Formats: sequence, C-alpha cells, structure tokens
Amino acid sequence: MSKLLAQPKLDTTFPCPFCNHRDSVDCFIDLEHNCARVVCFVCQELLHQGPPAH
Ligand SMILES: [Zn+2]
Repeated sequence: MSKLLAQPKLDTTFPCPFCNHRDSVDCFIDLEHNCARVVCFVCQELLHQGPPAH
C-alpha cells in the first residue's frame, strides 16, 4: 500500500452527494490555476472550484 502522492492533498474526504460513495470526494489544490477543486474520483463530479481559503 503506497501513500505517496505527487500532488498536494488536503486531508479531507467525505461522501459524494451524487453517487453516495463513501470517502470518494477529495480536495485538491490546482497550483497551475491557484484554485481549490473538490472532486469525486468515482463519478468525476466537480463539486466545487474556487480560490483556496487561506
Ligand atoms: Zn461521486
């Protein structure tokens, strides 16, 4: 089991309101566009996109 991730990841996962998958929603920081993305990796639904909270 490898936990190595190249991408900075916030330690936040929660259930997806679209597919109801448990812990499938993750927050990512898009360094290129300097914004935060909240994406479900099961159904690929973009729940939120915006500037990261400081
Ligand atoms: Zn989902």
